[in-house]
Amino acid sequence: AALDNLLEVNNIEVIYNHVILVLKGVSLNVPKGGITALLGGNGAGKTTTLKAISGLLASERGEVTKGSIKYRAEPIQHADPADTVKRGVVQVMEGRHCFEHLTIEENLLTGAYTRKDGNAAVQRDLEMVYEYFPRLRERRRSQAGYTSGGEQQMCAIGRALMSRPEMILLDEPSMGLAPQLVEQIFEIVKSVNEQEGVTFLLAEQNTNVALRFAHYGYILESGRVVMDGPAKDLRENQDVKEFYLGMS
Ligand code: ATP
Repeated sequence: AALDNLLEVNNIEVIYNHVILVLKGVSLNVPKGGITALLGGNGAGKTTTLKAISGLLASERGEVTKGSIKYRAEPIQHADPADTVKRGVVQVMEGRHCFEHLTIEENLLTGAYTRKDGNAAVQRDLEMVYEYFPRLRERRRSQAGYTSGGEQQMCAIGRALMSRPEMILLDEPSMGLAPQLVEQIFEIVKSVNEQEGVTFLLAEQNTNVALRFAHYGYILESGRVVMDGPAKDLRENQDVKEFYLGMS
């Protein structure tokens, strides 16, 4: 186990409702400071993998029945979401999940609720989020439910940043967004990664954009990793071109 792997997922099986086997032995490593992409089509098991890591599986009657998940070399396969957040891992769910009745700024502040470093630090980080997402500053007094899909996606990422995470699990950030906006969001993810040192594991069906921004990729099919490699190699791989890059 290399020391620079923040996260090590080793041969995990996930079963829903005691019977439905969805992950059939998934292994992956996430190096500290990198952007790692989890790719694959609808139902391949990307979201399930992220939820296994964050601990959100339990609320969906899912369970890791085999293998291990280690964060900083400590087993977390049975940790609950509050515990993983304390360790510095936060998941941004697919479909965004902002609180519709709160303003953008109130949503961002909810991301800081577990912090104990005081109001000044929280205000500084709010400013940091607004620097990355100028659009959120403009919309800070708007009720989230009345903002656009792109703004809500930004709000969800911003809220995750407000907890000062070490790693963000980002589920399908491109979903439902126009290509130009997808590009913009990935650019921001890249600068947060480079400037704040936040590690990303992101699930994407949009192979094309994910492989341009990620450093390393894993391709899932029916609950198994069928290919992995540096993003640059995957982009040039004939099978990837044929089966995945054509799609997006
Ligand atoms: P998507 O992009 O559609 O979210 P995905 O690669 O993230 O796809 P998952 O959401 O992890 O895939 O789903 C993998 C499989 O697990 C699918 O066959 C799905 O039907 C099944 N599944 C997901 N959640 C549950 C659940 N709560 N109970 C039972 N089966 C589930």
